[in-house]
Amino acid sequence: MDSILVVNAGSSSVKFEAFAIAGSADLKFQVRGQMDGIGRQPRLRARGPDGSQIVDRRFEAQQIPDVPSALHTAGDWLREQHEIHPVAVGHRVVHGGPNYDRPVLVTAEVLAELEKYVPLAPLHQPNNLAPIRSIAERFPTLPQVACFDTAFHRGHSPVTDHYAIPEPYYAQGVRRYGFHGLSYEYIAQRLPAVAPECAEGRVVVAHLGNGASMCAMLGGRSIDSTMGFTALEGLPMGTRPGQIDPGVILFLIEQRGMSPAAVQDMLYSECGLKGLSGISNDVRELEASSNPRAAFALDYFVHRIALHAGMLAAALGGLDAFVFTAGIGENSVSLRARIAEKLGWLGARLDAAANAAHGPRISAPDSRIGLFVIPTNEELMIAQHTLALLRDASTLPRQQGKSS
Ligand code: AMP
Repeated sequence: MDSILVVNAGSSSVKFEAFAIAGSADLKFQVRGQMDGIGRQPRLRARGPDGSQIVDRRFEAQQIPDVPSALHTAGDWLREQHEIHPVAVGHRVVHGGPNYDRPVLVTAEVLAELEKYVPLAPLHQPNNLAPIRSIAERFPTLPQVACFDTAFHRGHSPVTDHYAIPEPYYAQGVRRYGFHGLSYEYIAQRLPAVAPECAEGRVVVAHLGNGASMCAMLGGRSIDSTMGFTALEGLPMGTRPGQIDPGVILFLIEQRGMSPAAVQDMLYSECGLKGLSGISNDVRELEASSNPRAAFALDYFVHRIALHAGMLAAALGGLDAFVFTAGIGENSVSLRARIAEKLGWLGARLDAAANAAHGPRISAPDSRIGLFVIPTNEELMIAQHTLALLRDASTLPRQQGKSS
């Protein structure tokens, strides 16, 4: 069956999802899986449409030394065990730089352009590009599409896009890009069905997962975001601090003798809920803990979300709806309740029963703003973009280019 393969590659894992092309614009979910522990203890796991596990296989470290070999093994498995034949691959690419405001069909020129953004996202961009390159080598006729986390935010005004630093740095790429754009775009697409009365209005979407940010949307378009130059700015996250005085970084380097690499490691891996609690980055563990530090970490998380919500409401000139999404936003009944309470000054009133049932509408009838839970689906967004771009370009191959 003709399928779109979606690839989301990190440093030690590759997530993939396959969608069958069911109609002119229809995609049917087939398989979701990942290869973890690349180069250490590789393990391939996947689930089918009914949620049941369809593979759990371990490999020797030397069998899967890197991301390309992980992807090729997963691709062979999809083809041989499930007769899934991708006719195109859509990739999540963290950085599209200042110019890409939509997905793009990958060519050698595009790949060279995307390489330029490696310094802007050194931890993620190389891992995103490596599978594109290896697939292009192995299957040169297979169309590949790059979908960017930054693209949805490219319409921001110059005031939103800037830091107050000397202007030449802006030209060098030091800008507030914003991330989680594929998630926000998916929510914008779902809003007319879930919240038709708010879809064209002033909406704040809170993507609360291990990475966390919020987006101010006006008429379904991003006008501001809590994330900026990197995915470190804004809200506290599982292991990242969110907003921090840059003076702290200078202090750590100059007074504490930390190397830039050590500071980077701390900022990406040791801060946020994990750093504050000293227990875990996982909200489930913190909610279950009786340790006061766990409670403090969650208090901090709620406080900062409320502060940034106020900031984004100011950017929008008011608020019509607030949407929760991603792992924490979709699942934590208690954090949603606490955040909704903090939004009381904006007129938010929670329907506790609807919240316990995970919505989608969780605001009470007398609430001045709509509160919603909308599960995100970045992979479907990538698959839709890939299909649309191929159809537009009339490049969808029928026989040739089939591969794993
Ligand atoms: P994501 O990055 O969107 O996959 O979100 C992952 C995070 O969601 C986990 O680290 C948890 O903190 C959180 N999470 C997942 N399930 C639950 C749950 N049932 N209750 C509270 N938090 C959850």
